[in-house]
Amino acid sequence: MPKKKETKEKSAGEQLKEKLVYKKKSAFEKCPDEEKAVFEYCEGYKKFLDNGKTERDATKYSIELAKKNGFVEYKFGKKVKAGEKYYYNNRGKSVYFFIIGSEDIENGIAVTAAHIDSPRLDLKANPVYEAGGMAFLKTHYYGGIKKYQWTAIPLALHGVVTLADGRTVDVMIGEDETDPLFYINDILPHLARDQYAKQLGAAIEGEQLNLLSGSKPFDNETGEAIKLNLLRLFNEKYGMTEVDFQSAELCAVPAMKARDVGLDRSLIAAYGHDDKVCAYPEITAIMSLENPEKTVMSILADKEETGSDGNTGMKTSAFCDIIADICAALKKNERVVRANSACLSADVSAAYDPNFAGAFEINNSALINCGIALSKYTGGGGKSSTNDASGEYVGRIRKIFDDAGVVWQTAELGKVDQGGGGTVAKFISEKNIDTVDVGVPVISMHAPYEVVSKYDVYNMHKAVVAFYTAK
Ligand code: MN
Ligand code: MN
Repeated sequence: MPKKKETKEKSAGEQLKEKLVYKKKSAFEKCPDEEKAVFEYCEGYKKFLDNGKTERDATKYSIELAKKNGFVEYKFGKKVKAGEKYYYNNRGKSVYFFIIGSEDIENGIAVTAAHIDSPRLDLKANPVYEAGGMAFLKTHYYGGIKKYQWTAIPLALHGVVTLADGRTVDVMIGEDETDPLFYINDILPHLARDQYAKQLGAAIEGEQLNLLSGSKPFDNETGEAIKLNLLRLFNEKYGMTEVDFQSAELCAVPAMKARDVGLDRSLIAAYGHDDKVCAYPEITAIMSLENPEKTVMSILADKEETGSDGNTGMKTSAFCDIIADICAALKKNERVVRANSACLSADVSAAYDPNFAGAFEINNSALINCGIALSKYTGGGGKSSTNDASGEYVGRIRKIFDDAGVVWQTAELGKVDQGGGGTVAKFISEKNIDTVDVGVPVISMHAPYEVVSKYDVYNMHKAVVAFYTAK
């Protein structure tokens, strides 16, 4: 039997409501036809996550992808011309991808900036010690972590060691299924009375974040023979001695791989969504372009989690140096270029979580699956320490997204007085570049295993493509 046609007319109130009232909709409702593309896209994203856990790993992996897409290495002083695709590798920890556009660069560059460092545990300079019949490695946490979340989970060690002879060796232990892991001990609930009495933030202290790394002595005669045996194994594998930890950069990161969450597989759990979930869409977007009109740039920055300082963080002059260098080659005015440039500061926002509803103000929070979150401002309290994008610029970005069918929403991090956070936005806008924050909503941000929605990830890719190609 044919379905009965809906004949009921909408009331004047219903019609007016449709016209005037903003209603947030899920991407599942808005773009049901995209589901296949969304899920396929996220298979590539999961590979990026597994191969890019630290800024070094992500730099290496994204440069590999870029080379396959015709990008070549940029060195200062290079003569560039329209259509050419470059990457600038900043010390193996941050990378700038850019394509020279066909139109006058003085019309401005379309810049997007994400970060590829994530909260983790770095080894101290003198990390190895033995206690209670076990060998441990001492850590110093990097970025904002809830320390108690890092105990009793599988951890891997990533990084580099520069040896006494000047050679630098890559270290990677714990990612292969057959590799051993590292582990941080916690107290059993039976004996946790003292721990339970503490404030949650003090339940595990920084000096308790020690990596369990062995328990077998080298022999039964030598003192500290378990430590010695651990040093022997590091020496056999990497040619290093204890003093070489002092010129190493070794990071303990969760050893878990990215996995789908939910029977419908609509979500992804992984370490480091913040901010690989914006970094990956940036590079897939720039790598999808050939001969763009506008000059476009994707930045993958380091050190965002510790304040964007240092020569690989977003405060580095490398960013302006690259623009100045391109302008010199094209005989253009760098100041004009920056004044006319625009930027999406691509970083994550907090997804509304009904389990912690009290921390959010629901009308101004990002809902999962409702698209990327646009944040006019970040910061804390009375908007302190924020780039507050102008209404005009937000309006321009809004139109670009709407014209391209990007599913997006606005978001603040949480309730006004609940806390706050920052991004690289202010370090780009202070260079006289219009900048606004846009990113994927994340559940359990900064936890060792975070969650995002596949539809939201895909919309980040669409958003960056739309931004790069907007007239
Ligand atoms: Mn971030
Ligand atoms: Mn973060």
